[in-house]
Amino acid sequence: MTLTETIAAVRAKRCSAVEVVQQSLDAIEKHNERLGAFISVEGERALQRARDIDARIAKGEPVGPLAGAAVAVKDNMCTAFGTTTCASQILSNFRSPYDAAVVERLEAADAVIVGKTNLDEFAMGSSSENSSYCPVRNPWDTTRVPGGSSGGSAVAVAAGLVQGALGSDTGGSIRQPAALTGITGLKPTYGRVSRHGLVAFASSLDQIGPLARNVRDTACLLKVIAGHDPRDSTSVGCAVPDYTALLGADLKGLTIGVAAGDFGKGLNDEVCKAVEAALGVYRDNGARIVEAHLPHMKYAIACYYLIATAEASSNLARYDGVHYGVRADRHEGIVDLYCASRDQGFGQEVKRRIMLGTFALSSGYYDAYYLKALKVRTLLARDFEAAFEQVDVIASPVSPVTAFKLGEKIDDPLAMYLADIHTTSVNLAGIAGLSIPCGFDADGLPIGLQLMAPHFAEERLLAVGHQFQCLTDYHTKHPPQST
Ligand code: GLN
Repeated sequence: MTLTETIAAVRAKRCSAVEVVQQSLDAIEKHNERLGAFISVEGERALQRARDIDARIAKGEPVGPLAGAAVAVKDNMCTAFGTTTCASQILSNFRSPYDAAVVERLEAADAVIVGKTNLDEFAMGSSSENSSYCPVRNPWDTTRVPGGSSGGSAVAVAAGLVQGALGSDTGGSIRQPAALTGITGLKPTYGRVSRHGLVAFASSLDQIGPLARNVRDTACLLKVIAGHDPRDSTSVGCAVPDYTALLGADLKGLTIGVAAGDFGKGLNDEVCKAVEAALGVYRDNGARIVEAHLPHMKYAIACYYLIATAEASSNLARYDGVHYGVRADRHEGIVDLYCASRDQGFGQEVKRRIMLGTFALSSGYYDAYYLKALKVRTLLARDFEAAFEQVDVIASPVSPVTAFKLGEKIDDPLAMYLADIHTTSVNLAGIAGLSIPCGFDADGLPIGLQLMAPHFAEERLLAVGHQFQCLTDYHTKHPPQST
């Protein structure tokens, strides 16, 4: 069942919250070893919360809008229960003293969090292979990656282990795994969702968002987690629309922009065909497809990998073996303690990012790299602003390729970084981006369509995505052996 169906069934007492949660826990027990989607599972706690919800329903007491749904959160979001590891050895024993704002909001809405999902260490990666626990595997073909870094959240939903999940997206980490696993994922506008309690990777880009089976479920989750929070100074106070009620909005006269450069070299043929066919679906339903002019898009990857690494090098300075997490047991003096703890605690990709970022920020290179990247970022944001004067949404592929083999790109960081070619510009501009399934390749692997909308136009984005799901059935397909 989808999230919406599950909530309705629990509310109507056709099934209990305990049954939903128990089924989720059983499915995790059965499939997690194969898929590696969860780092930790909080079975007893989840069942207790489900019992509480059932008791309130039995007594006719009010329950929250997500009552009865089993959900998961990425393990870079703090929870006062269990551990928050970011899939890193340096935080393998870290217990947060507080819940992230999104965790509070999910639980206040009576969603039941069953566990915390696997990711690329500190959300750095595009394949979920950079986890210090185990790689996550794609349920459509377990020899392939599910994308990253929110691969665990995507797989938990795609394999039917939960009805919805939260991920974080700094350069594509919600949208790309959603695309590669055939589900729906939304990166909301920067400032739409509070990041209080999200472990920072690149603070000017990070955003939390939902992953679910379809756009309706995604809208349902966004409604719960969106809104101002005084504890995140970047969260914005504008009203939270009723996203689910607005899904049926009239889309007459819809204009979709497409950047010509998006369909060039490096784009897999089948992905290209599926995205073009998806645009055809919109065209057949009255949308106008026009060319969008985004001249600086070609610099997005370079710009992103300077800014994201620079911010990461600064954000990750706090892991010193003293303030948080794991401390090296053998060291000679304080400086050696820092060095040894960081050397043992961080994985290879995290170290690479810290070094790249430190380099980009160092005196002599700051102007040439970091500052220049900031200027390009402004140009990119202006490209989008100008484009959105002509079009309502912009469409593109999410990922240039379908799910690749485990190990295929792990030794070639540049090839891995190119997986983000269509997604990073959305974070750099701070706008909203949605990934919806739009087809399968010859191997039966899912393909995603990306839709982008201006700041705080999530209701438009979701309505446009929902229209596609009313006209197609890609989002209803499940991987083999799923629950
Ligand atoms: N794949 C990108 C990176 O490695 C994006 C990660 C993310 O969005 N967290 O940085």
